[in-house]
Amino acid sequence: MLHRMTLGDFELTAVSDGIYHLDGGAFFGVVPKVMWQKKLVADERNRVASGLNSLIVRTGSQTVLIETGIGNKLSEKLRGIYDARQLLPASFAAAGIEPREVDIVINTHLHFDHCGWNTTRKPDGSIVPTFPNAQYFAHRGEVDHGHLQLERDAVSYISDNYDPLLATGQMTLIDPPEGGLLEIVPGVSVEVFPGHTAQMMAVLLDSAGERACYISDLIPTSAHLDVTWVMGYDLDPLTCIEQRKRFLSRAIPEKWLVLFTHDHHHPMGYVEWNDRGKPVFVGS
Ligand SMILES: [Zn+2]
Repeated sequence: MLHRMTLGDFELTAVSDGIYHLDGGAFFGVVPKVMWQKKLVADERNRVASGLNSLIVRTGSQTVLIETGIGNKLSEKLRGIYDARQLLPASFAAAGIEPREVDIVINTHLHFDHCGWNTTRKPDGSIVPTFPNAQYFAHRGEVDHGHLQLERDAVSYISDNYDPLLATGQMTLIDPPEGGLLEIVPGVSVEVFPGHTAQMMAVLLDSAGERACYISDLIPTSAHLDVTWVMGYDLDPLTCIEQRKRFLSRAIPEKWLVLFTHDHHHPMGYVEWNDRGKPVFVGS
């Protein structure tokens, strides 16, 4: 199913690198399984199916791609663990959009499941940009953190996803002001929402008075809307909770269209407060 809608003068198309599988316990952190399994069903290996949603934004003058899935560079072992499908090129084709049409690629952070198709490994082993005409944007702090290869999260950072682009100048490193927006192209901005990583960015889209927000791993699926249901992967869960409150306190009253990075059932939709004061997904 093709998820396409308009936001003001922008056309938004949700594309996907396919479904992959995450450990249910890691996906829901300290939340007991008896609670989260009411929302997502785990398989016999306790894994839950998750989406790898990217968003193509046609602004009228430019084509912007947010996030690039897992890609084709994982080791055989990791590919088996995550059951990665490598479907983003097919998803582009189904949407009728060519990779060479992409002008801008934005990575909210550089975990391998968000920037994997930044580059493609060819059969001869060479690494080439998947989007040859695009300028890529990532947070400077994410690249620095990835290069440190810390014990906690070294596995999440695969340098072939960004180092080749940095070497040729095809990736621009940015550092948005704290609590403020940095505009990449007119109507497409990034803002740091820390917690999942120290510098994870959301992408805000503004056109003709309407706003959408790709909130990335701050709220990975519509099953993670309870502010305390943070992930085991989050580096700073307390900050995630505060940042989720900051996000929802704007997104709900201002009726932002919310884009979920790992929700293969609901890549986009609106959020409201229910009568008990909890945020709930209400569809699009
Ligand atoms: Zn992540």
